[in-house]
Amino acid sequence: MSVLSVSPADLQRRVAEALARLGLSRGATLSTLLEVVASTSGRTIEISPVGTKEWETVTGLVLLSEGRAQVLVRKSDPRWYQFHSVLHELSHLVLEHTGCSSLPSGRRTGVTPRAGQTMLARSVGTYEFERHVDFHDEEAVREAEAEKLSQVIAELMLGPKYREDEAVLG
Ligand SMILES: [Zn+2]
Repeated sequence: MSVLSVSPADLQRRVAEALARLGLSRGATLSTLLEVVASTSGRTIEISPVGTKEWETVTGLVLLSEGRAQVLVRKSDPRWYQFHSVLHELSHLVLEHTGCSSLPSGRRTGVTPRAGQTMLARSVGTYEFERHVDFHDEEAVREAEAEKLSQVIAELMLGPKYREDEAVLG
């Protein structure tokens, strides 16, 4: 089991270290990221868009089983949002959020993983949300770590284009 962050500064440091471990170059594509995460996590990774009623309150999740990670994204979400959901779920893998005993099985999602699977559900955060995380809540810390890592990966992958897009969106 991985060690979890204990403060906003610690979280930022752990996320920066995880990003460095990936060794992604600026402008890296999603398929490059998938290859890197597959090789660092030792799992095959599959992305599946799904759509069911249970997904009203969750936007993505990853089902882990031996040697495999299946990332589910909500079919009805816009593509850029699916992209961020995938980055978030991959971030859980990079941060080794596996084998935890207090996972949100069904708590937020209404989706129950099969035996032997671990499920990490996604919740949405704003940019400097780590300042407001309750560092005594392990689930909140795991989510904050993954969300922060997904933000820095997105910045690296999308770079200037992302800022242009943001400018367009106001
Ligand atoms: Zn998550």
